[in-house]
Amino acid sequence: MLKKLRSPLYLALLLPALLALYGDGLAPLDHVFLNARSKLGKHETPPSIVVVSIDSSASGPDTSTTSSRKLASALEAVRRQIPYRVFIDAPVNFGQDKVGDAELVAAVNRLAPDAAFVVRHDNYAIESSEVRLKDFRLPDAALSGSVPMVLSSWDTNFFDYALSSPYSFKFGDKTYPTFAAALTQVDSGWQSSFRPDYLLNPDSILKIRASALDAGNFKPGLLTGRTVIVTFEGTVAPLGLYGSGRRHPLDVDIAGASALKQPLSLSLNGLPLLFLVWYLIWKGSQSKRKSWKTVWHGSALVCVFLIPAVAQTAGILVKTGASLVAVAIYGFSRMWQYRIRRVQLTSASGLPNLLALSATPMPVGQDLIVALIARYEEILATLPKDLHGECARQIARRLSVGSGASTVYNGEGGHFAWAEEARPLEMQLDHLEGLRALFSAPLEIGPYTFDTNVHFGLDRNEGFDALTRVNSALASANDALAGGRAIELFEADRLADASWELSLHARIDEGLRNGEIWLAFQSQWDSRTGSICGAEALIRWNHPTRGPIPPDAFILQAERAGRIDALTYWTMEEAITAALALNAAGQRFQMSINLSAQMVDKPGLVSSITEIIKRRGIDPTLLTIEITETSSVRNRPAAVANLSKLRSLGFRLSIDDFGTGEASLAYLADLPSDELKLDRRFISRILTHERELKIVQSTIDLAHALGQVVVAEGIEDEATWRKLIKLGCDIGQGYHLGRPMPFVDFQKIATHAGTLIRESG
Ligand code: C2E
Ligand code: CA
Ligand code: CA
Repeated sequence: MLKKLRSPLYLALLLPALLALYGDGLAPLDHVFLNARSKLGKHETPPSIVVVSIDSSASGPDTSTTSSRKLASALEAVRRQIPYRVFIDAPVNFGQDKVGDAELVAAVNRLAPDAAFVVRHDNYAIESSEVRLKDFRLPDAALSGSVPMVLSSWDTNFFDYALSSPYSFKFGDKTYPTFAAALTQVDSGWQSSFRPDYLLNPDSILKIRASALDAGNFKPGLLTGRTVIVTFEGTVAPLGLYGSGRRHPLDVDIAGASALKQPLSLSLNGLPLLFLVWYLIWKGSQSKRKSWKTVWHGSALVCVFLIPAVAQTAGILVKTGASLVAVAIYGFSRMWQYRIRRVQLTSASGLPNLLALSATPMPVGQDLIVALIARYEEILATLPKDLHGECARQIARRLSVGSGASTVYNGEGGHFAWAEEARPLEMQLDHLEGLRALFSAPLEIGPYTFDTNVHFGLDRNEGFDALTRVNSALASANDALAGGRAIELFEADRLADASWELSLHARIDEGLRNGEIWLAFQSQWDSRTGSICGAEALIRWNHPTRGPIPPDAFILQAERAGRIDALTYWTMEEAITAALALNAAGQRFQMSINLSAQMVDKPGLVSSITEIIKRRGIDPTLLTIEITETSSVRNRPAAVANLSKLRSLGFRLSIDDFGTGEASLAYLADLPSDELKLDRRFISRILTHERELKIVQSTIDLAHALGQVVVAEGIEDEATWRKLIKLGCDIGQGYHLGRPMPFVDFQKIATHAGTLIRESG
């Protein structure tokens, strides 16, 4: 649950809601947005209001008041036009000019029943609840005696922008309407305050100079029957009006009057819109189809902008800060995800890679499957670069069609992964077999055609995180390929070993340092002379707590941990040390070294080995390199090139486990080799099974025909060894002839007993 709340989706609801509820954290955002929105869709001021302004040259001793004489003459000029009402919104310098004052009093009295004084508050920043009558710039008693007063006071925000005004103020038992309310002559009804109409364009207010009026320089009838406001252009503190910037407070009052003509004057907090917008975002995030996602998210965005704008024209002010924050949080998180997803796209194919799969949450009830395409690197090496992407896409399409998975992820080196609904194991294996059949048809990429084979790694360990599961399925797919099996199921108990495997890197180094890892030597016997002619170096690990670890197991793990190079070169150095010691006495012993399939196609292999033999000063013809598990070699052309180079340097090449790997015969054809090692699976059965005997017999003949030396391994009894000698086998190796042993023991046998003819029978 907590995890859910921390997701960007829920954060986009909670954070803005909190900001909107507690403190006015979103006020600046609301301010900016309202200001921007109010610039659009402006409307004109109705012509029923006309402003007559006395220019500032007519000011008294200070620039904020007009002289009484000027005001008096302006009022007279206005009165002659027979206006409907007159509002006197001009602070006057009363009491300085006796004659002017008298003229003004007379002019005001003549207008009396249809006139009012506009009285402004000194400080708009004050809340209406704290407003007192004495804070208004009241006109002289001589003027206000016969004419009522209307007040102008706006509640403002932090930036001095007008937010709202009450309909009226009550001081003592007297009630004074506010200017805007008086302009519209509306009753407060149930509302206590109203806000300005931000969409009113104050530049459209009809304005005329008092001097033009005097000179008769105006359209006749302009003021007749209209509401006229006589104002003064002198200095006055401006007031912010959304959408119009800082204006003369009169503009705000007129905008207030305009608002009062609208059907509603409501101000909503941001929560209703936030809920609506978030609901649309949520709907979008739930939809599977991309087009629906776009529709939902698009409408969320439209709502944020359109609803407040439409509502504003009806007089409802909707705060948008919260919804904007919600959209921003969700939008940024999506953009961030998109950025990450781009990193997670395999460049050539445009398919998402395994990193992307590892980062997706894994729903329950899903199996994770990795398909590994055999000979993938070889295919890529053949294809021109611009077809690499197409190749991956075609394979992904086949897998997607066969598995029903909508997304197939593409890893390096021919790995494809996806998640699909878990079925009972039997069914799942059948299903994968079916998928495998899809790959019996060759891949056709451009003009190229390839036969491929696919191996599957299957992880069914629900509940583990995606990364672990991807790695498990990957390892299993690799095992499947290495073992020549179609499908490998990742067993859960290996997960318990995950940490062991992860730290293997360090452990191998430690094992090499402290002697836990060592080489055993198993003798090889010449069938003609009956004496030891060489040895195979076999790696051993006596782990202090785990006991002896079988080399098959930890070599596989070292390959996976990326430690196989170190291990290979260490083995080579040790085996050379042994070979040098054995050959010091003048006898010729052959030393066989196993080379991991993961190593044979590496670019630096030949130069590294050349460096070692140069430095150690050994004759490479004393060394035999055994290559095995040929099917798991990734890049066979590179492997063949490496091995041919090594052979030309003088190394002997031996094909290990001949007859078991998929490609032994192909190797024999491709690779100039010196030796074939018959696998012990055949050797152990030659006395009991006619079939195996025939295979061994014909393989020996074939090998000889190709000029190869034949080694039989896994000889466990004398009878087998004798039979092999009869069949023409050249060299024997097995527990019967000698178990793998430490070098000191081996050296004793080799140098003392090596020349002894082994007794037969
Ligand atoms: P391999 O190259 O086929 O090695 C022969 C395996 O057969 C050895 O097992 C050896 O102990 C075993 N063996 C020998 N004689 C008999 C016998 O009469 N009967 C039976 N049942 N087994 C016999 P080991 O030492 O457990 O090695 C297993 C595999 O591990 C090797 O198979 C080889 O593929 C790999 N390996 C061992 N040492 C190295 C190494 O230094 N480097 C690399 N890359 N791989 C190695
Ligand atoms: Ca071997
Ligand atoms: Ca072998």
